[in-house]
Amino acid sequence: MREGITVTDAITKNGAGRYLCPLCLNWFTDLDDLSLEHAPPASIGGRHTAVTCRDCNSRSGHTVDAELRRAETLYEFGSRSMTKPMSATAHYGDVEQRSEIIFGPEGLSIAGVAKQNHPDTAAAVTEVLQAAAGSKDWSMTLSLRTPDFRKAAIAWLRAAYLVAFATLGYLYVLLGELEPVREQIRDPDAEILSRYCLVTSSSAAERRIVSVKEPHDLASVAVLVGSRAILLPSPTAPGTYERLAALDPWPPPGERTLSGEVAAWPTRPAYALDRIALLK
Ligand SMILES: [Zn+2]
Repeated sequence: MREGITVTDAITKNGAGRYLCPLCLNWFTDLDDLSLEHAPPASIGGRHTAVTCRDCNSRSGHTVDAELRRAETLYEFGSRSMTKPMSATAHYGDVEQRSEIIFGPEGLSIAGVAKQNHPDTAAAVTEVLQAAAGSKDWSMTLSLRTPDFRKAAIAWLRAAYLVAFATLGYLYVLLGELEPVREQIRDPDAEILSRYCLVTSSSAAERRIVSVKEPHDLASVAVLVGSRAILLPSPTAPGTYERLAALDPWPPPGERTLSGEVAAWPTRPAYALDRIALLK
């Protein structure tokens, strides 16, 4: 935070010893109004990346980050790699039971949640299962709540913005092309950006930032988490979102490899563009 203040005091005239929240661009004097942000959210393995104001930090947790956790859990269900249970409703014939499920390498585990069901439900489920024992013609249904995938994508956009801020600094986020990104983060229900997420050929464990030069159509700052790339405006090739809007079809077909300068995932703000400017 102190480094952030030093940087903004040097590159702007408005700081006067205050901290500029990279998300809402409000100035803060009181440390109690600020907090450390995880990017991506802690619930999906993110680490402290940047300092934002408490308002910006808490607003996201309740809306988009919760949908991101749900979307990730569903993905883990599909790839049989769940580590935490998810809520589901199990139907055994006519008997319905609110349950928690885990689908991992060991198999599928379904457990009724006593507090969320009628006291007689467990016995009714046992009865159905006993009657079905040995039968080859038997089925049950699991109903899962569908995550809001749009909001989950905005949680990724928010995480990518914070990672790019930590890497490149204030001169980057103060570029005009970053304003619609902040607007979209502030108002997840509005449709401000539609093309900013891509699937690439990167492997699952990778986390890095690429200043994409090739393909030129995709010139951008790409924040890569596994095979997912979140595309943010390029500081050197203006008009990133106009270029993406002109692509037909979207997403571009085929295996995608984004190449350009690579930066490591930040563990603390590096303010790279600010430092370069201050050295001049
Ligand atoms: Zn803020």
